Amino acid sequence: MTVKRICLLGATGSIGKSTLDLIAQHPDQFELFSASANSDVEGMLRLVQAFKPTQVCMRDEAAGQRLSSQLKALGLAKTELLIGGQGLNNLAAHPSVDTVVAGIVGIAGLLPVWSAVSTGKSVLLANKEALVCAGELFVQAAKRSDARILPIDSEHNAIFQCLGPAYRCFTRPASVRRLLLTASGGPFRQWSPEAIRSATPEQAVKHPNWVMGPKISVDSATMMNKALELIEAHWLFAMPAAEIEVVIHPQSIIHSMVEFQDGSTLAQLGAPDMRTPIAHAMAWPHRIQSSVESLNWSQLRELQFEVPDNKRFPSLEFARHALASGPVASICLNATNEVMVARFLKGDCAFGAIFDQVEEGLSRFAGRFPIPTGLDDVMAIDTEVRSFYAH
Ligand code: NAD
Ligand code: MG
Repeated sequence: MTVKRICLLGATGSIGKSTLDLIAQHPDQFELFSASANSDVEGMLRLVQAFKPTQVCMRDEAAGQRLSSQLKALGLAKTELLIGGQGLNNLAAHPSVDTVVAGIVGIAGLLPVWSAVSTGKSVLLANKEALVCAGELFVQAAKRSDARILPIDSEHNAIFQCLGPAYRCFTRPASVRRLLLTASGGPFRQWSPEAIRSATPEQAVKHPNWVMGPKISVDSATMMNKALELIEAHWLFAMPAAEIEVVIHPQSIIHSMVEFQDGSTLAQLGAPDMRTPIAHAMAWPHRIQSSVESLNWSQLRELQFEVPDNKRFPSLEFARHALASGPVASICLNATNEVMVARFLKGDCAFGAIFDQVEEGLSRFAGRFPIPTGLDDVMAIDTEVRSFYAH
């Protein structure tokens, strides 16, 4: 069996740690060839000691300098250290890499994912913001380079599994009537509108079922995560938004479903543990052990379903509006949301302000720019919108 050489982008985060756990479980099948982080020097150092990757990259310059001296002091300088944004792109494009795991959060993942897709890698995609901001461009780039996209966002991985082993992302699946994205509803599912608007960062990052990084946890609380996932599903599966529905399912056991033309609905179920979708994509088209616990059918009493409440959580409507308005709107939606989530986490604005400003950002900026023809255009729009809201 050939060993797959993995480039892990965002190695110190939640997706990164789950991926490292799986690599450690299967040293005969996977090698951590390279890894990146933003500024977590301690996390990166532990990872270099444990996995001895060929290359690592720190996005943050000062953190890169600190890591450099620590690697030397500990006799680990055999691992090549790259620093900065170009380093991330080089890591992802390295000819020895087979598979790139895209676990960077936010627009920061866009260029390295682009680098991986343009060089024809297998891309295990967690970074949904890349497709939200440049979906059409990614579809074209993957077609040019023959890159294979394997979704590891749990909902999209569930749909991918339901579509069967012959399915290839970015093509419209045959005989499908609709896709059903499940959503937990987040920590504020049953809260009043007033309580939601004044929720604190501590309350927002406490997800009922999943342990995740802070940004996606806040996105789950606003349901912006599902909104971004709707746009992600639209591009990944080449399905119109009108044929993608969102169902609230508080237990997070069904990860999503596909309804076929004959009325059959297939679902993928499992414990809410990201190691399942990551293991599925790492081993695809085979399967490997993940150490994820089995579902306990004697304790699992019920699976509930609800219709999303668009009044208390308007994010899904924003996403549908953005998709109907063209590619610039999705970039504005994402940029405004990223800025507002960062401000909310710093205690700089109320939870309710995220909804207000995202809506404002869509109406202020969506019609202001021409359709982007390349990644430079996407980044320029992102930068302009971001600077307007980052007070
Ligand atoms: P996280 O905050 O736990 O980790 C983010 C990683 O990205 C870290 O390694 C960090 O060093 C790196 N990073 C942060 N800012 C960076 C920058 N400016 N430049 C370069 N690297 C940077 O986030 P996460 O929860 O692991 O989420 C990562 C991505 O995966 C997000 O796009 C998220 O939507 C998606 N995702 C996560 C989960 C989950 O369970 N955590 C599930 C589905 C999808
Ligand atoms: Mg998800």
